[in-house]
Amino acid sequence: MNKEKRFLPDLNPEQLAALQLEGLKWTVAHACSGSPAYREKFDQARIKPEDITSLADIEKLPFTTVEDLRRGYPLPLLSVPQEQIVRIHASSGTTGKRKILAYTQKDIDTWKVMMARCFELAGLTTLDRVQIAVGYGLWTAGVGFQLGCEHFGAMAVPLGPGNLDFQLQFLTDLQPACLCSTASMALLLAEQVEKMGLQDRIKLKKLIFGAEPHTPKMRRKIEQTLDLEDSFDIPGMTEVYGPGTGLECWEHKGMHYWADIFILEIVDPVSLKPVQPGQTGEMVITTLRKEGVPLIRYRTRDLTRILPDPCPCGLNLPRHDRILGRSDDMFIFRGVNIYPGQIAEILEGFKDISSEYLITLDRKKGLDFMQISVERKESASADNDSHLAGLISAQIRKKVMVRAEVDIQGPGKLPRSMGKSRRILDQRDQD
Ligand code: AMP
Ligand code: ZN
Repeated sequence: MNKEKRFLPDLNPEQLAALQLEGLKWTVAHACSGSPAYREKFDQARIKPEDITSLADIEKLPFTTVEDLRRGYPLPLLSVPQEQIVRIHASSGTTGKRKILAYTQKDIDTWKVMMARCFELAGLTTLDRVQIAVGYGLWTAGVGFQLGCEHFGAMAVPLGPGNLDFQLQFLTDLQPACLCSTASMALLLAEQVEKMGLQDRIKLKKLIFGAEPHTPKMRRKIEQTLDLEDSFDIPGMTEVYGPGTGLECWEHKGMHYWADIFILEIVDPVSLKPVQPGQTGEMVITTLRKEGVPLIRYRTRDLTRILPDPCPCGLNLPRHDRILGRSDDMFIFRGVNIYPGQIAEILEGFKDISSEYLITLDRKKGLDFMQISVERKESASADNDSHLAGLISAQIRKKVMVRAEVDIQGPGKLPRSMGKSRRILDQRDQD
């Protein structure tokens, strides 16, 4: 780890609170004067910028939702004159119509510091080469990693996603120390490295991976196959600049987040009241210096919890747990609310199957039907498939209280993704 902090802030709680209050006041005044949509929301809530005099006043502010972003399509909640916008990005569109977010130059500069902090926290040096294997273009991922990598001073190797041969060629020829990708892409690359016996020819030490939930099994497989020193889960979303709203530290006890750049609240998604510290709820984000599209109490739909204790790593930055899933990932099966993460957690306990799974929902004779496809590990015998399927199905019945058919496929048979993996295939509305 670089002991010298070039990008990571070192603020005591009083300094942080003062910065947050100043940023909150600025953001509310800025949004109110720059965006008719925000002004209307504040008018409806009968709140004025001067009503915000303490951090606790944040609870007086109305929430902003994904519908607010969609309603203003194509440039929702724009709070500066358009001539100040230097770029747009759009979300990956996994949950409906893409959201387009606009950036001023100052927003890009803030983001590049956020991302440079990630490389610093991951312990990279300016001698390191960084293979960036995520999407460029409209998606924030590629350009975000690149901005941060260059600002940090390491060497960006901007491959983008896809083309496995190309990825392997650069991994062996340039020997980057760090790979940035989704967990799915890292798994795919690891499997390919293994298949081609290239382990000795690559020198990867670190992986920064995010954009989707991962399981411990998936992470272990990647770390072991690529013989990594360490890997770091990175959170982020287009609405809050892009990737790099924080990073895991080397203690791997949650993610540190940049509390000088945004305020994080965790609320109960139904009552919208703050949960007790440490309880799981929806992440609500208020940006503190974002110009183009400031966010005020934005309901991200991502679920996590604050980890209230200080981190053993000693960093003066608060932490949240890894992103446990999205509230809109929940599906209702025969009256039971289920998150894919609950199924993943059960599968995690079975050592003879790999990390990959796909939940298919169907309707047969008017009834919901669930199939969970998993993959047998190389080391396990196919003779045991039906016994194993029975055991998994029994655990699901016990823990989630639904019946599911478990389908065990051969190693590597489930679809792989170079971006975010799809875990649910819901075919119930297609009768
Ligand atoms: P996008 O704006 O298209 O980049 O998508 C952002 C969304 O991806 C977030 O709101 C999360 O639901 C998900 N996501 C991003 N990073 C992670 C991560 N490290 N772990 C789990 N989910 C993530
Ligand atoms: Zn830490």
